[in-house]
Amino acid sequence: MTYRIRALKNGECQVRDYITYHDGGEETSLYYLYLWLIEGGPSPMVVETGVTDIEGFNRGVDSYIPGGVTQKPEEHTVAALRAVGVEPEDVSHVFITHFHGDHYDSFHLFPNATMVANREGFLKARPGFPARVAEALERRGEKGALLVGDEDVMPGIRCFHLGVHSECSQGIAVDTSLGRAVLTGDVVYKFRNLEEDYAPGWTDVEAWKIAAARIRREGDFFVPAHDPLVLERWPGGIIGE
Ligand SMILES: [Zn+2]
Repeated sequence: MTYRIRALKNGECQVRDYITYHDGGEETSLYYLYLWLIEGGPSPMVVETGVTDIEGFNRGVDSYIPGGVTQKPEEHTVAALRAVGVEPEDVSHVFITHFHGDHYDSFHLFPNATMVANREGFLKARPGFPARVAEALERRGEKGALLVGDEDVMPGIRCFHLGVHSECSQGIAVDTSLGRAVLTGDVVYKFRNLEEDYAPGWTDVEAWKIAAARIRREGDFFVPAHDPLVLERWPGGIIGE
């Protein structure tokens, strides 16, 4: 069983290098926000939900994301999915790499999806969920969340706990025609982090290196969370057939 991963751009921002690299300075570099569409299974699935509350997200981040996140109308989660022929109600699973707003904020936009999240991370983060996410989960009852550790969630898709950047961070490994891809979440912002073993800022460097080694072990290649180069390395952001 192999899948095709499609990077859908959800917005962009400039982020200070001291976030991207542990010894970085005040300069900034371009980040893209993505959601990742997984096709080839019985129903479409996504990794990350895209950001909904941009104003809320931008509040308080100005010191390290000067100017905040911007999003064009066509980059909004629903618009980006529809542009490639997917209706949000058809999405069966929403994999969450970690519970930071820009990664799980829009779960409510997928009315029939099951959230797949790290078990301990989910239980810890749950009291802080925004109302729209909490309500969406409640409405779906048992079917709302699938809580996982290190395990194969379905044929060709595996979750594994990473625990850096956020305690709940998990990698999502997806079998594609190009080999096994690991969607890293914010454990790896840019290609350079992993390719040069160059730890990001605001993290324990040694713990990060252990997580980085795990990502290398779990997959044949990796897809960083926020690198604009994703759309060049895999033209159009299409990973696999
Ligand atoms: Zn994050």
